[in-house]
Amino acid sequence: MLRNVVIVGGGTAGWMTATYLKEAFGDRLSVTLVESARVPTIGVGEATFSTVRHFFDYLGLAEHEWMPACHASYKLAIRFENWREPGHVFYHPFERLPKVQGFTMADWWLKLGGERFDKDCLVIPALCDAMRSPRYPDGELFERALHDGGDRPRRSTLSDQSTQFPYAYHFDASLLAEFLADLGTSRGIRRVRDDVLEVRQDERGWISHVVTREHGDITGDLFIDCTGFRGLLINQVMKEPFESYQDYLPNNRAVALRVPIDVVENGMRPCTTATAMDSGWIWTIPLSNRIGTGYVYAEDFCAPEDAERTLREFVGPAAAEVEANHIKMRIGRNRNSWVRNCVAIGLSSGFVEPLESTGIFFIQYGVEQLVKHFPDENWQPELTAGYNRAIARCLDGVRDFLVVHYRCAARADTPYWKATKERPVPAGLEERLEAWSVRLPDETSIYPYYHGFEAYSYNVMLLGLGGHLPQRSLPALDYLDDTEARAQLARVREQASALVDALPSQQEYLASVASG
Ligand code: FAD
Repeated sequence: MLRNVVIVGGGTAGWMTATYLKEAFGDRLSVTLVESARVPTIGVGEATFSTVRHFFDYLGLAEHEWMPACHASYKLAIRFENWREPGHVFYHPFERLPKVQGFTMADWWLKLGGERFDKDCLVIPALCDAMRSPRYPDGELFERALHDGGDRPRRSTLSDQSTQFPYAYHFDASLLAEFLADLGTSRGIRRVRDDVLEVRQDERGWISHVVTREHGDITGDLFIDCTGFRGLLINQVMKEPFESYQDYLPNNRAVALRVPIDVVENGMRPCTTATAMDSGWIWTIPLSNRIGTGYVYAEDFCAPEDAERTLREFVGPAAAEVEANHIKMRIGRNRNSWVRNCVAIGLSSGFVEPLESTGIFFIQYGVEQLVKHFPDENWQPELTAGYNRAIARCLDGVRDFLVVHYRCAARADTPYWKATKERPVPAGLEERLEAWSVRLPDETSIYPYYHGFEAYSYNVMLLGLGGHLPQRSLPALDYLDDTEARAQLARVREQASALVDALPSQQEYLASVASG
């Protein structure tokens, strides 16, 4: 058995990895985390994906224990603004589409028509518009009465993909890293605040130890690179090539602001907002004490100073005194994220732009897969290969899903948006797009490996983006009685309105969580 794991990097990736490994293997594995006080963390990363709930469950953390400490709020959806045309809005919620007679409500909606697909077929858009909490005052989850089933048991495992949760969170990722650092050290993780100056390898090229400024050499069996975009261990030392996604996803820069707000005055939308702009898009993420916002753009189409000016104009006077954080993004993934005795997790492993909030999801998936493939002193190559396959597929799948966002957005009014329709797409996607122009995506026609997103997400995006819709509804539906489908549409309207009446506002609910 291996005894010692050394993690380099104390951002969100480092501390999520450390605490998860400690929870999984307890005292059988010693975990040391080395983090530099000089090299800052990335300082962004506030919206998450719905499986994140299982991470907190796995650590045995209830919401009231960590949410107030991280200024967290609920995220039920992403609100897309201006992706089809100026002023157009739709939501991509964490809510699966109901089925009627074996066909999803997306298929039925194309046949029956309506005003807005997302609001006609799903309840979460109404909760977002009304800024509702997903929980009743007694803590019960809103969806108890709906088709998706009820709350999940605590201490679930991360890998249970069937239990996609109906919401995710927004939080301050730096505060989460600090919270997990305190938790981790109380659970036996050794925390070393120091700079890694050198990484030494043995004659086979395996890492033997890291050399620190003040704590000498730190030896280990397995080394985890959580050093962010610099990939200190995996790229600089192990020389693993990084495969860029830039040909498909050109956004490679962001400028971010932390804007103080009065939540009582402004309310808190329980969703991330992604607003399409001339050369990219702006995220708006409500936390309990401020808004996180940033413009993600392609430097081929926009200069950093123009991006900052655009973002400041978008936010208004509240941003006047706030310092901007300009970030260069490395978009793509390592050819392999596990090489010999070095595993990269977090930005050092790979990243796609934050459009569907998958950075922290990749960390969670990375550490979960590491536990499943954890080696012993035999270092079976099949375990390494299995891990690398799972990670590569997950990132490639998300890449493809994001390409769909740009390619299928009706918007084509600026050079940036025109180019989204002309750029090549990853292998296999062109055929899928062709198939979807006749029949909406299902589990057999989306990217075939686990990448977090299910067919319902593709349906919601295609119907919301509006630039790549089937010409007509499915012929099969003409042979079926549509009474039940019409009843389902009516039921959604009733449920949505009853929930809006019954649920507290997110701000009221979070205040009650904070006061215990
Ligand atoms: P970092 O935060 O960069 O941490 C690196 C760590 O390594 C630091 O602790 C540093 O001190 C340490 N280090 C570096 N060199 C040394 C050394 N020599 N010795 C010792 N320590 C060292 N993700 C989401 O899930 N949702 C989002 O909404 C989201 N938005 C994003 C927006 C942007 C613009 C970007 C760029 C990313 C976003 N992400 C998002 C991704 C998310 O920020 C990261 O996945 C997450 O913060 C993890 O970062 P990290 O820990 O890998 O790297």
